[in-house]
Amino acid sequence: MIEKRDFYINGAWVAPAEARDYHVIDPATEDPCAVISLGARADTEAAVAAAKAALPAWRATAPETRLAYVEKILAIYEERFEEMAQAISLEMGAPIDLARKEQASSGTWHISNFIKAAKGFEWVHPLGDGTPGAMIAYEPIGVVGLITPWNWPMNQVTLKVIPALIAGCTMVLKPSEEAPLSSMLFAEFIDQAGVPAGVFNLVNGDGVGVGSQLSSHPDIAMISFTGSTRAGKAISIAAAETLKRVCLELGGKGANLIFADCDEKAVKRGVRHMFENTGQSCNAPSRMLVERSYYEKALEIAAQTAAETRVANPREEGRHIGPVINKAQFEKIQGLIESGIKEGARLIAGGLGRPEGLNKGYYVRPTMFADCTPEMTIVREEIFGPVLSIMPFDTEEEAVALANDTPYGLTNYVQSMDGARRNRLARALNAGMVQMNGQSRGAGAPFGGIGASGLAREGGRWGIEEFCCVKSIGGWAE
Ligand code: NAD
Repeated sequence: MIEKRDFYINGAWVAPAEARDYHVIDPATEDPCAVISLGARADTEAAVAAAKAALPAWRATAPETRLAYVEKILAIYEERFEEMAQAISLEMGAPIDLARKEQASSGTWHISNFIKAAKGFEWVHPLGDGTPGAMIAYEPIGVVGLITPWNWPMNQVTLKVIPALIAGCTMVLKPSEEAPLSSMLFAEFIDQAGVPAGVFNLVNGDGVGVGSQLSSHPDIAMISFTGSTRAGKAISIAAAETLKRVCLELGGKGANLIFADCDEKAVKRGVRHMFENTGQSCNAPSRMLVERSYYEKALEIAAQTAAETRVANPREEGRHIGPVINKAQFEKIQGLIESGIKEGARLIAGGLGRPEGLNKGYYVRPTMFADCTPEMTIVREEIFGPVLSIMPFDTEEEAVALANDTPYGLTNYVQSMDGARRNRLARALNAGMVQMNGQSRGAGAPFGGIGASGLAREGGRWGIEEFCCVKSIGGWAE
């Protein structure tokens, strides 16, 4: 078993103040695969103190110096890429091909995009014409606390650590206790890159412990959090007393609007996207809304795609889905599938229990319900598993109303060959992101939602701005 009990504080791996072992469970076997420590208040205090002490020197470095460290981190990440893919696959059960092609590579992708954004970032610039001596300066907000989930570990960690470094902030990262191994490896990359002691610190822990200690800490200026809407609310409340900036990336219940004039791969693409990462993505298109004249055809393609979706051990190469993260999630998903059946949705693929031949590991059957209605629990709640809810619509207006009938607003999807309709819908859908006809957002585009999905914008220049304060200056010498 992997033993990783130490924390990375002030440029060194240090033993926890108190022994509190925590087993990381391999979701494919249900057995412990690593032991870490859960931090105590003394560990949080040591990490915050190190970040506070490192701040004046780090924020005073030239942006080019900070960028050079980030470039080194990227080079080390690329060199040690396979270690990262293996760590992610082990800790959260991503099939190894997905761990390489999507999970680990999301980290290198974000770092590269941040490097590009940083090169074009104007840290100090004139306010504009006709206002001589008026300047705008972007300055680091200070010491930041970064709290991340387990589902796309390096995606979320790089979306926070890298812009914080670029902006000149110092930081304490608390990764998910369910999937801490990739973050500990990332800390090794940062150490290897020679980032000055105290700039980056990592303390493992749970939400009620290190998570809430960071959220309420008077020396932390901002919390950047990705995770559940429940924890996002708790963090906002804990942060209120010290008036922190709180950036939240929360849950989602994405709608995928399929019109009869969609391209022939639209339904298959939507189902595959839903099942990717075993449905454990905040931007999963978990509600498929289909124009009635295409509904039966869509159900046929969807059921066929579900039947073709293999569930297998994450260590196996090839295209398949793995287990879900843990027992609690497995049971929650089973409960939601049961609610779908009880509330009258029509089960057209999958269902309760494990897939055939997989008796150990948190494996779920790729499941699909047709004839769903807006009030059903499976349509309202984020399931975070491979479960798709499908419902018909008659008009574009009805489709928009159904899509917008949710407190969430992260990503919505549109499939139609009618360009004018796509552009109308891109504006009418309540969400931080709209992706159409299978086209993703561009490199360096901001990621984020509205409402119960949070209001943060991560990635590219918007992601750097999140870690900055805007200073407005008058009387600047020309
Ligand atoms: P979670 O909220 O349970 O945990 C996320 C992190 O917050 C963990 O590090 C956890 O220890 C910590 N935490 C939990 N309670 C806390 C508290 N009261 N105070 C401080 N920290 C606390 O979420 P999860 O189960 O790890 O991740 C799944 C959730 O994340 C889903 O809801 C998903 O939609 C969301 N998510 C959102 C995005 C996005 O960008 N919008 C991306 C990925 C995941």
